[in-house]
Amino acid sequence: MKPYVEMSKEELTAEYEALKASYQSYVDRHLSLNMARGKPGSDQLDLSRGMLDVINSASDLTASDGTDARNYGCLDGLPEAKKLLGDMMDSDPEDVIVYGNSSLNIMYDQIARSYTFGVMGNTPWCQLDGPVKWLCPVPGYDRHFGITEFFGIEMINIPMHEDGPDMDAVEAFVKDPAVKGIWCVPKYSNPGGVVYSDEVIDRFAHLQPAAKDFRIYWDNAYCIHHLYEEIDIPDILKACKEAGHPDLVYKFGSTSKITFPGAGIAALATSPNNKKDILNQMKHQTIGHDKLNQLRHVRFFGDLNGLKEHMKKHADLIRPKFEAVEKTLNEQLGGLEVGTWTNPKGGYFISFTGLDGTAQEIVAKMKEAGVVMTGAGATYPYHKDPHDSNIRIAPTLPPLDEIALAAEIFATVVKLVSAEKLLA
Ligand code: PLP
Repeated sequence: MKPYVEMSKEELTAEYEALKASYQSYVDRHLSLNMARGKPGSDQLDLSRGMLDVINSASDLTASDGTDARNYGCLDGLPEAKKLLGDMMDSDPEDVIVYGNSSLNIMYDQIARSYTFGVMGNTPWCQLDGPVKWLCPVPGYDRHFGITEFFGIEMINIPMHEDGPDMDAVEAFVKDPAVKGIWCVPKYSNPGGVVYSDEVIDRFAHLQPAAKDFRIYWDNAYCIHHLYEEIDIPDILKACKEAGHPDLVYKFGSTSKITFPGAGIAALATSPNNKKDILNQMKHQTIGHDKLNQLRHVRFFGDLNGLKEHMKKHADLIRPKFEAVEKTLNEQLGGLEVGTWTNPKGGYFISFTGLDGTAQEIVAKMKEAGVVMTGAGATYPYHKDPHDSNIRIAPTLPPLDEIALAAEIFATVVKLVSAEKLLA
């Protein structure tokens, strides 16, 4: 089929009428499908059931350094947990703090501490005269933007390219001392699946922000979540150190989409100065996180190889779901010039970009047909997609047959809404 824009009015009207009929046939089925949230499917969760058996009432619960994991203490985590998560996050165990169950929680805490107490002796952000500003590569992760919005931080959109954020824009904006941070998901970004290039990472390491307390929030949530072969990126912490800016970055990671979201372990890796600054504040917050869960994870995986083998099993379960969506989009939308979509090599999302002014209508029509999608605009700060064109597709949660059907409906709706828009 030729591009919609090249069709005559009669041709496009005929296409539109046919699409209306097939859309109605989906509505009449009263379906209840979901392509909204990036959660693992229950078959993925089953992969980690064995972890619940590695510790029981008969287990020795002593850590490698003699710590009794049942008791208080060990603020930055058990040595073997720091090693496991350090290896996963490409960091020296000594640079790691193992926290509780959520990396998003660590990011929130980091911003809350910066707001109330300041970063390494700098003025707490709550005492600054002007607004705090933050760089937000877009499209991006809605919950990142949710944190910065909650703190009243002024968010600035930074365009995302195929190799990472627009670094010319980043370098220009960090000259403003009010800019205190940037959200980054360097591997298989949410939602674009973008992997930052070596050049982009090098430019990040060489950033010269005006604010001494500017930090890169490097959320490597999908560091070992490959769908195909492993893709490695340079370690930002090492690069920052070599560039003479050792304190520029906080790295985050967790096992949420490796074992159990909500019951995994999360970590932060950073320079010795930053780590000291954080622990000095954190010691007032907790006497130590859940070390039994740390032990459980270490004993279940053994080492980084154990983690990687486990991730291959995840990939085998979710790869067909990604491929089903991509196949349908290629077959049904290819050549029509009504949208583009990503073919990620890892992570949890496919990012779809339709014609300007269509995303809200597409998501609304999907809902009417019984398919819940992530809200249009969610991938932008303040839920404001300036083009109303981006939609995040999350293929992992539903079973394969449901995701395939949802993708078919999505393709039909994209065509219907695009034709309607072009005819208007
Ligand atoms: N960071 C990114 C980029 C995510 O996509 C998600 C979950 O979807 C999280 C963090 C949440 O991580 P956690 O469960 O460790 O809080």
